[in-house]
Amino acid sequence: MATDCQWPTLRPDEWVKGKLVGSGSFGSVHLAMSKVNGGLFAVKSAESGAGLEALENEAKILQSLNSQYVVRCIGKELLSGSNGEHKLNVFMEYMSGGSLSDAAEKFGGMLEEEVIQLYTREILHGLKYLHQNGIVHCDLKCKNVLLGSSRDIKLADFGSAKRLKEIKANRGLSGSSCQSIGGTPLWMAPEVLRNQGLDFASDIWSLGCTVIEMATGRPPWSDEVSNPMAAVLKIACSDKTPQFPAQLSQEGVDFLIKCLERDPKRRWTAENLLNHPFVLRNSTRIHTRNEHACSPASIFDIEVYDSDDSESTDAKELQSNNPFSRCVAERNRTARREQAKSDLASGPSSEIWITVRCEEAYKTYTGYGE
Ligand code: ATP
Repeated sequence: MATDCQWPTLRPDEWVKGKLVGSGSFGSVHLAMSKVNGGLFAVKSAESGAGLEALENEAKILQSLNSQYVVRCIGKELLSGSNGEHKLNVFMEYMSGGSLSDAAEKFGGMLEEEVIQLYTREILHGLKYLHQNGIVHCDLKCKNVLLGSSRDIKLADFGSAKRLKEIKANRGLSGSSCQSIGGTPLWMAPEVLRNQGLDFASDIWSLGCTVIEMATGRPPWSDEVSNPMAAVLKIACSDKTPQFPAQLSQEGVDFLIKCLERDPKRRWTAENLLNHPFVLRNSTRIHTRNEHACSPASIFDIEVYDSDDSESTDAKELQSNNPFSRCVAERNRTARREQAKSDLASGPSSEIWITVRCEEAYKTYTGYGE
């Protein structure tokens, strides 16, 4: 199961950094190119402090994972400056479609329900894989779900992710229920904000919030509260759930009810949700489309096609269901080149809510901007 980086020997003189493709509260992400084979990849960098710590955590977790639903780590390097400062670069597969929020923005802000169903299904596969491997993502939102140029959707940004058994061990050692948490407050589950225990169910609450975000183009709770601190209090202390999008189908509403159950014990699991009609509705059509599935267009596609593990059926399903897909391999390559050019030309999108990391849940704070 555990894999180490696939390009472990990439030296500093063997790659070049390109344009900024995104940034978050803890680091920046650039497009990069290998001088060895010309391949494109992404490099996430952080220097000292909380950013470096989060990126180290991310690299450690990503290196232990191997799934087509999780962005792949392909190497890392730690550089030391003369001033004693450190800089960590983590190399990852490049997802040229950017994040789900970038994609939604390019298509008018919100996504069609059919597309939301497809994306939600892929996110659920990713969560099921993480939870089976004992990992809580802790920061699921549109900005942390990435789109490839060839029909693939993957979970990213594992800076706040946690191994459940480590959380439980730490809790046992300190004898305290207080735990270090990270994430983005508006997407956080009530029990996380109340420090009543982080668990896999917390990701399912965030999934519900992410579905609302896909359907409305805005963060959850935006209709109810404008003040970030009021929002946090409302999530933690009221018996409310965020407002459901008005245009959502009955199945969509029921799916959200199952995700946004305030009692985490009664919330559905990723495995249960994969059988919910909301994400099953398009599966017949997905299989029909499979007949037109494309040839592999990059080393990552080949990996998916050659895979003989239990995920391979899902992989083929995934290959055919991304609405951004093109069914000719050459067109894929051209699109990728064009995408790379436009990525090089455009900057990152802005977001008002930032990720926070705090020593104790009750010290959770919120903030605007960078
Ligand atoms: P946050 O504030 O959410 O904690 P962060 O500092 O941890 O952010 P990421 O969320 O990992 O940073 O990345 C920021 C943005 O960079 C993403 O939303 C996405 O647009 C872009 N990005 C990240 N990884 C990749 C990748 N592998 N390929 C392409 N773009 C990426």
